[in-house]
Amino acid sequence: MSHHPEAPTTSPPSLSERLQSVTEALAAVRTQQDVFRVVLTPALQAVDAVAGAVLLVDQTGQYLTVAATQGHEEGAHTLWQDGPLTSSVPAGDALKRQEALFFEHEGALMRAYPELEAHTDGRAPVATAVLPMILDDRPLGTIILDFKEPHEFTSDEQRFLRTLATQCAIAFGRVRLMTDLERQVQDRAGRALADARAQEAFVAFTEAVGTETDLLALARQAITVLRARFQDSSVGYYTPDGDLWKARAWSEDMEEALVAQLRAGLPSSTPFIRGTLETGTPVFTDTWDPEREQIDHTDAYGASAAYPLIVNGEVRHLLLCGLKGTQRWNDRDRALVRAVGRSLTLAFERAEQTRNVEEERAALDAFARFTERSTHVTDAITLAQEAKDVLLATLGVEVGYSELEDGLWKGRVFSDTTPAEVVAQARKGFPADLPAFARPFQERNVVFVDGWDPQGAEHTEGYGAAALYPYFEDGQPSGLLTMGSPQGRAWTERERTVFRAVGRSLELALERAQQAAVLKQRTMEVQQANEELRRSNAELEQFAYIASHDLQAPVRAVTSFAEVVTERYADVLDERGRTYLGLIMQNGEHMKRLLDDLLTYSRVANERRPLVPTDADAVLDRVLDRLGPQLEALGATVTRAALPMVLADAQQLDGLFQNLLSNALKYHRDGVPPVVEVTAERDGGMWRVTVTDNGIGMEPQYFERIFGMFQRLHGREMYEGTGIGLAVCKKIAERHGGRLWVESRVGEGSTFFFTLSA
Ligand code: ADP
Repeated sequence: MSHHPEAPTTSPPSLSERLQSVTEALAAVRTQQDVFRVVLTPALQAVDAVAGAVLLVDQTGQYLTVAATQGHEEGAHTLWQDGPLTSSVPAGDALKRQEALFFEHEGALMRAYPELEAHTDGRAPVATAVLPMILDDRPLGTIILDFKEPHEFTSDEQRFLRTLATQCAIAFGRVRLMTDLERQVQDRAGRALADARAQEAFVAFTEAVGTETDLLALARQAITVLRARFQDSSVGYYTPDGDLWKARAWSEDMEEALVAQLRAGLPSSTPFIRGTLETGTPVFTDTWDPEREQIDHTDAYGASAAYPLIVNGEVRHLLLCGLKGTQRWNDRDRALVRAVGRSLTLAFERAEQTRNVEEERAALDAFARFTERSTHVTDAITLAQEAKDVLLATLGVEVGYSELEDGLWKGRVFSDTTPAEVVAQARKGFPADLPAFARPFQERNVVFVDGWDPQGAEHTEGYGAAALYPYFEDGQPSGLLTMGSPQGRAWTERERTVFRAVGRSLELALERAQQAAVLKQRTMEVQQANEELRRSNAELEQFAYIASHDLQAPVRAVTSFAEVVTERYADVLDERGRTYLGLIMQNGEHMKRLLDDLLTYSRVANERRPLVPTDADAVLDRVLDRLGPQLEALGATVTRAALPMVLADAQQLDGLFQNLLSNALKYHRDGVPPVVEVTAERDGGMWRVTVTDNGIGMEPQYFERIFGMFQRLHGREMYEGTGIGLAVCKKIAERHGGRLWVESRVGEGSTFFFTLSA
């Protein structure tokens, strides 16, 4: 209160002074309660009222509530109570009429509203003023002043009170506006904060997507992002297990019972899951129905989303999201779910690729290690041991190898860590017809068991996961490579890949070992046969040598004595006797030649002179010298190339040329002088020598046969000979590490080829 020095302080302030100070005070108030306090006090004082109240119309516009009172005794029963806004109560009436009501004398109020006391169970004051507060034609409420004494309201007082009510309404409206504004600002700030948090989560997620390869960690990040954006929501990440989709990560808001249910798994037939699985696209619904979906504890949700994470064309994971209450999906929210889903899919694809590369590398390493160590091994047990070592080093698992014996799988190779009782049982053997052991052989494929059920395989109940690789020999089960893990867990992709690789390597190695064994067997057989052949050949040659040698003397005796008889007793014999004697001598001569040739033949094999550098030209010179008279008699021409130095037995090379050249002369065509050509051509480390004639030639069917013993194409009456010459030649060529063969045309001539080491 201001104190003027000259003015006396006793006189109460005038109505307009009061109005002014109220207006000033109202300008500063910030809350509804302050408004009422600032207004009620001067109102009561100015008109000497005992008590006052402010009634406010609520948000529905149908109801009045007491917002403030002043001057009433604690707990006093007044007429001014909460109640419906109707014109049967003074406050409602004043608002409806939009004018202040003044009741100046005892009973006036009750006369106007007879029901009031009974309704409210209150006591009516002597006099009352009911002042409506109206702002922009909207009823806000009323100010009510009660008097103990009858009160006549002067027109100044009435104007004062009406103005006060209007001021109050304005202030009240302003405060309300301010509070609204403040709330909006706060809301917006809150939303901005949430947005910022969502943004941060999204950035963190995007970064993780680029580097993280742990799928679960990535899924958790995605959940965080979605939760930051949809505050009143639940998000989960699911992977399939048979026909169930089991939650692997979930937001923390969910109640335990729901989490337990989601972890146990939702069937693929759950409507909102089935939809996304069938279409491979995200499914959003704004009408969540717990009964239709058959998921308990989800009454609180109103909207849902299912996002399929597709890797390699398959839905591998699911992201499921539920919005609580009355929230619905809008375009922006859907876009966010899609963006997160897509990012997660990309990250999963990348992680899968990385994992594939790692698995491939691990498998390749294992494969290479096994191959390296097993190349020279051909024994199945040693190979299995190598396979075990590689698996142990690569995966650190328990490994065993068994062989089938009398219908039992008997353990042959074990890991050091295999429990003694399992080793003992495996040594005794597991029945081959136990389903677990029979399966890989029925399927002819590796079998991975994630939950091992011993089913009669004693002492194996300690295993949680097992893998079995079957081996066959001649189509029959022969071996079994096993891998076991004591924990109750599933084999990882890497373990499966490595086991497959090593199993397959062992399979190849075992096959190779089997083939090697067969090959060894065959080689031994062939060696044995060769040895026998060699021995019988040697015996034959020995026989031929002895026979030809020992027969020479008697043959010589026959021909000599036949000669003696011819000389001395020719005249004693008649013509026929002399003819017979001639035949004896002729055949004796032929037999002698046969024996000579046979002896030559057997000598080629038996004489073991070393092969030395020999001048083929000089050898040919000597042969042609010897044949000189014959060449002359037949009018033959011989052309020859310069022959090289060769590795040979000179004497045998001489025999070779001698035979081929004599044949070239002998088998000439009638009336055609023989033309013979000798050439030599280098062929790798060999020389190929040819002897070509223009003689009678021969048909191709004889190209092989003429090199056999006693093989001739003509009678002796046409061409003298024994049929041994070419057989000798062939043997000589072969003894020199070369070959002999012929090409020929009937009536044109023949070419004999032979090769010799240079
Ligand atoms: P032979 O003592 O009969 O000459 P060979 O073993 O030397 O015995 O020859 C075997 C057969 O090959 C001969 O009987 C002959 O029919 C045939 N033959 C060999 N050389 C020639 C040739 N240059 N031209 C045609 N036929 C030949």
